[in-house]
Amino acid sequence: MSFVDYSDVIQDGDVAVVYLGHDSMTHIKVRHGAQTQTRYGAIRHSADLIGQRYGSKVTCTKGGWVYVLHPTPELWTVTLPHRTQILYTTDIAAITMLLELKPGSVVCESGTGSGSLSHAILRTVAPTGHLHTVEFHQQRAETAAEEFREHRVDHLVTVRNQDVCKEGFGVTGVADAVFLDIPSPWEAVGHAKAAMKRHGGRVCSFSPCIEQVQKTCQALAEHGFQEVTTVEVLLRSHDVRSVSLPLPDFGQDSPAREKEAPPRQAAVGLKTTTLPREIPGHTGYLTFATKPRT
Ligand code: SAH
Repeated sequence: MSFVDYSDVIQDGDVAVVYLGHDSMTHIKVRHGAQTQTRYGAIRHSADLIGQRYGSKVTCTKGGWVYVLHPTPELWTVTLPHRTQILYTTDIAAITMLLELKPGSVVCESGTGSGSLSHAILRTVAPTGHLHTVEFHQQRAETAAEEFREHRVDHLVTVRNQDVCKEGFGVTGVADAVFLDIPSPWEAVGHAKAAMKRHGGRVCSFSPCIEQVQKTCQALAEHGFQEVTTVEVLLRSHDVRSVSLPLPDFGQDSPAREKEAPPRQAAVGLKTTTLPREIPGHTGYLTFATKPRT
């Protein structure tokens, strides 16, 4: 198992995602002889998991069942232990596309936080790219580094425990893209520029408040970044339902009845969608910019 590669069979030492139904999920570390308690009873790792295929339905000791899934960055985002606020898949999708990330990209990121975005970046830049991630909270930096080892992506990432606003990213002239998720991103814009390749690249900053966005946009312009654009990504889910519509009855002489409307069918079933009246959850603004060739 690795977060950037798929393997078929569950092995000792893997991290697996357990789907408990009704969109409820958790992750477990698979260990010979260990057990995990669920509301359906225990999962016995040696007997129930090791050697089984990912995607299997596993029966727990009380007779209920769960699905055991191969980990992905998307599943990690919904099951990871929160040490900070995190970025979710809707924002991550826009960040990945608008930073133009691809296999082989070199990316700088700060702060690492809980590693939600980091895992998605790693999956995209693998197998030849690299992530330089900077986190000034020592324990968060150490825990993230340990998770990257457990998830077998540590060869793709360097974790630095330092203040990005004072010390930068620890690399110069190597990054295709830089991502900032810190309270004062404008203080790190100069370091972002220094970390990027001479032929330019893309930068993105996530901020919940518009005042932070204003300061960041100003700093980006002062440092010569171009195409400064701020977006907010809101997800609108359509609720698809079946409804039953009564058929109009135009009486005996109606041409519709003469043709083929069956006399006893009084209603017709249709699929319809309703839009949400409001879209919950402002997460933050994403400010993108381009560093031109220098
Ligand atoms: N994007 C992350 C969450 C980042 S939370 C995720 O998806 O999981 C913000 C993190 O930035 C926190 O862990 C905080 O400790 C760190 N941070 C804040 N200011 C910083 C700075 N100046 N240098 C480095 N890290 C910083």
